[in-house]
Amino acid sequence: MANTANDSINEWLSKLNTALQSNDSSGAADLFAPECYWRDFVSFTWNLKTLEGRDEIAAMLDTTLDSVKPGNWTLDGDATEADGITEGWIKFETATARGEGHLRLNADGLAWTLLTTAYELKGFEEAKGSTRPRGVEHGVSRGRKTWLEKKQQEEAELGYERQPYCLIIGGGQGGIGLGARLKRLGVPTIIIEKNDRPGDSWRNRYKSLCLHDPVWYDHLPYLPYPDNWPVFAPKDKIGDWLESYTKIMELNYWSSTVCKKAAYDESSGEWTVHVERDGKPVVLKPKQLVLATGMSAVPNIPDIPGMDSFKGDIHHSSKHPGGDQYAGKKAVVIGSNNSAHDICADLWEHGADVTMVQRSSTHIAKSETLMDLALGGLYSEQAVANGITTHKADMIFASLPYRILPALQVPVYAEMKERDKDLYDRLEKVGFMLDFGEDDSGLFCKYLRRGSGYYIDVGASELVANGDIKIKTGQTERITETGVVLADGTEIPADLIVLATGYSSMNGWAAQLISQDVADKVGKVWGMGSDTTRDPGPWEGELRNMWKPTQQPGLWFHGGNLHQSRHYSSYLSLQLKAHMENIPTPVYGLQEVYHTS
Ligand SMILES: Cc1cc2nc3c(=O)[nH]c(=O)nc-3n(C[C@H](O)[C@H](O)[C@H](O)COP(=O)(O)OP(=O)(O)OC[C@H]3O[C@@H](n4cnc5c(N)ncnc54)[C@H](O)[C@@H]3O)c2cc1C
Repeated sequence: MANTANDSINEWLSKLNTALQSNDSSGAADLFAPECYWRDFVSFTWNLKTLEGRDEIAAMLDTTLDSVKPGNWTLDGDATEADGITEGWIKFETATARGEGHLRLNADGLAWTLLTTAYELKGFEEAKGSTRPRGVEHGVSRGRKTWLEKKQQEEAELGYERQPYCLIIGGGQGGIGLGARLKRLGVPTIIIEKNDRPGDSWRNRYKSLCLHDPVWYDHLPYLPYPDNWPVFAPKDKIGDWLESYTKIMELNYWSSTVCKKAAYDESSGEWTVHVERDGKPVVLKPKQLVLATGMSAVPNIPDIPGMDSFKGDIHHSSKHPGGDQYAGKKAVVIGSNNSAHDICADLWEHGADVTMVQRSSTHIAKSETLMDLALGGLYSEQAVANGITTHKADMIFASLPYRILPALQVPVYAEMKERDKDLYDRLEKVGFMLDFGEDDSGLFCKYLRRGSGYYIDVGASELVANGDIKIKTGQTERITETGVVLADGTEIPADLIVLATGYSSMNGWAAQLISQDVADKVGKVWGMGSDTTRDPGPWEGELRNMWKPTQQPGLWFHGGNLHQSRHYSSYLSLQLKAHMENIPTPVYGLQEVYHTS
């Protein structure tokens, strides 16, 4: 039986191909609906860029077609049709890369969304499957070196006799995953990490922490967790996995190494990076510098009057040792997002008398409901059973441009509101301030806009709702010798104060490690210009400065949650490889700077 969905996609691709072959940018743009989005990762723009509307699409093609030379557009697998939208996976090629993507056509056969991504560079394909290394060289040859000897030689030379092409500062999951991709692409790379062991950034977090996202969302590149891995992995288990992964992937990972300072020489196109490895100074000269220092690594510590006078323990959530020593003590946790809730629950479990201080409203999403309504379709055992691999899930997620994401999310969170009404009602009854995002678009949008403002409820909300964790709302005005005073005069006695006040922006790393000038030149990192709290406009369409070229040549930012690190490290690694191989990478729509931090 004829598959009309396939025909529709094939016909559209054929028309696109004809227009592109004849450099007819506006003809190509006319194949799109009046409301349309073309999201491109690297393949056309050497950037992560979403073009919105026909004019932006035509302008991008006008600039890029000559060098990109796209062709060989094909449908990959069968297309589907539902509710007037026909969609299918696609493959294509450019002069330098092979690409894959996704297309949605409306009922008139015009494109609503198009995703194009580069997945490999021609001539620089990763050795895998049938092209994997043999490991052994049969035959005899004098002076041959074993795998171990070669590895030890590389470890001894790289950074001393030979310079890495790329230096990644920060060896959390972000640095490690990107390092694995660069290793496979043959880009000489060193990852430096100030902690003693890979995985310590997780191990050092508070004792009770388990991942808030489920296992299907959390895989690292290339090496999925085994199928008995817990749904929500404890942080020390993740730490051990990262340490093993670093070894298995043969990464040049310098632990106990701190980056002190980095400076860029425009004329040589090279960085000079001063690091201290096991206490000894080393100068590295990479061409590319990646800051993978984490979005949640610089504690945001408020300066509250009277803090120094407090007679009990006071620390930021990142330094919280766990609740063991606080049985029977009065604990005040300032903050009401993920860390605050986790720490309150842990303190309560250890028999402390716990009060949470909430300054502004928080989005609460019950973990099971989130799984069921928001993530489950893409990242769950059911999704796997339905043939949705991790890569496919990542690509489906990426196929939704950020402009339309909030509207698609609103019904999900409306349903969540209904389903968990009882909990929300009880939370409000005890005075907890709730929100679902400024436009009711929920957790993902909040995360993309500001990276904070929510708790994925794994139990603490029930304790808040039933009064086991007491809630006080308001600004903390000062800290006394014996407790916390809120702006309305409420005094809360405390033996322990935990400042669960979040983390400061990645831009701060550039200022700290390079210079304020470079940080200002690069501008704000993260957020997409949604004009909501902590994400000022104008609209950017993609996350600022993440995984893509910045205003500072040779400087890149990498990070995000496990899903983002996994998926976007692929595009960052291809950009870095292209630079190393001197493949021209004309950037379309380089990040503009509207905000410095
Ligand atoms: C309490 C909590 C719970 C979280 N739960 C989840 C979750 O469930 N799922 C999820 O995906 N994400 C979660 N996150 C977000 C989490 O921070 C990230 O997923 C993850 O840690 C980010 O990895 P990263 O490599 O980008 O940064 P990090 O893990 O922060 O790693 C950055 C590394 O850079 C190193 N570094 C910094 N400065 C220097 C320097 N000058 N020299 C050398 N090294 C340096 C640091 O030591 C650190 O190891 C959580 C975060 C917190 C705080």
